[in-house]
Amino acid sequence: MTTNPTVAIVGAGAVGLTVAHDLARKDIDVTVYERGQVAAGSSGRAAGVCYDAFASRPDADLGREALERFREFARDGAPFTSCPYVWLVQQGDEQRERRVREGIERMCELGVDAVELDACDLAERFPPVRSDDIAVAGVTTGAGYTDPGEYTAWLASKARGVGATIETEIPVEIGIDPPRVMPEADSRLSREIEVDALVVAAGAHSKQLLADANVPIAMKPYRVQALVGTVSLAETGERWGPMVYDASANCYARPHPEGLLAGNGTEEVEADPDEYERRADEGFAGDLASRITHRLPGCALDVQRAWAGLCTATPDRNPLVGEIRENVYVATGFQGQGFMRSPAIGRRLADEILDGETLDGESSDRNGIDAFDPTRFDGDETFDVREGMAIE
Ligand SMILES: Cc1cc2nc3c(=O)[nH]c(=O)nc-3n(C[C@H](O)[C@H](O)[C@H](O)COP(=O)(O)OP(=O)(O)OC[C@H]3O[C@@H](n4cnc5c(N)ncnc54)[C@H](O)[C@@H]3O)c2cc1C
Repeated sequence: MTTNPTVAIVGAGAVGLTVAHDLARKDIDVTVYERGQVAAGSSGRAAGVCYDAFASRPDADLGREALERFREFARDGAPFTSCPYVWLVQQGDEQRERRVREGIERMCELGVDAVELDACDLAERFPPVRSDDIAVAGVTTGAGYTDPGEYTAWLASKARGVGATIETEIPVEIGIDPPRVMPEADSRLSREIEVDALVVAAGAHSKQLLADANVPIAMKPYRVQALVGTVSLAETGERWGPMVYDASANCYARPHPEGLLAGNGTEEVEADPDEYERRADEGFAGDLASRITHRLPGCALDVQRAWAGLCTATPDRNPLVGEIRENVYVATGFQGQGFMRSPAIGRRLADEILDGETLDGESSDRNGIDAFDPTRFDGDETFDVREGMAIE
């Protein structure tokens, strides 16, 4: 290892901060540059649904690793609540029904603790969830949720505690050869800083940031929406849980301290991360509330607030995570599932950086995630945005 290797990370979201934490605890000199405050991007606007219901590799492994780590962090003070995750398909939605059944079989083969439920099983196990119109459902009990803003703030303080520097309100540009961060106009950063390794974890801005350094990536930001409402429970006043994703109605909900958090409202077109509409669309809240109360008929939902944020899409719906140019790494394209996988993906990326040539002085096998290798695309691919949760 060279003396005092330095790593710069652009972006203080859940992903960048996990990488920062995991590098700093190995005594790497890490600085995170964040244009706003911690969790200013998607990590502060996410729903915080965290599940392991993935039917392929490496996602099933990453989901399991991530949930184990959320629980480990929770023992250390991070906010995280265990809660079963139910996904379901309505009668008549035959293609999705088949995919859910096949998916659950594959999950079981991959070691995910997933169980198929019919309408009777669902009614018995989760009475608040309407079951009379469903064809099939699945459940995993290892899932949970958190407040993503609070979790990310906790992670920032944990990363600082192991030695990472987190510079907020410093927007940067990047250079590739050599890896470096450079002050944006009006930035408090006074000079260019060369580093041994650079990580672009700038969420929806990653594409533009890299394009300005002549590194095109195959990623498109797209807009999604969510809401929080209070609920009056028609029956007992107990919490209504579990978390539910109705694939046919294209909506999800999870328990929230104020009642319920629900979402979707995905716009499958590329959005501009600087210009996109942060307010929810007119009609979004009412429309989503009626789909949610159909599924949770005992919950009378009173919407308190709704908002929009950005997710990031790739041509194959797998993220771009790993080395994209020598000692330059990227982590984006999470298809709406970046928060829930951040504890695992951040750790794998930190491992890959630690195994890289510059930091340990000699080359070794990559320790990253091959399926997410960002160099599998040239960056000029034409593709349609398809949302991440959809069962296709
Ligand atoms: C409404 C909504 C609901 C969602 N729900 C879920 C969910 O339930 N579960 C889940 O797993 N995922 C969910 N997601 C997706 C999730 O939010 C993202 O996948 C995840 O937060 C990505 O984290 P990140 O660290 O990669 O990016 P971000 O959190 O976006 O962090 C990137 C950071 O980079 C900073 N930055 C950008 N450019 C620069 C620059 N030039 N200089 C310095 N800093 C810069 C930004 O300010 C930002 O803070 C949801 C997203 C939305 C919008």
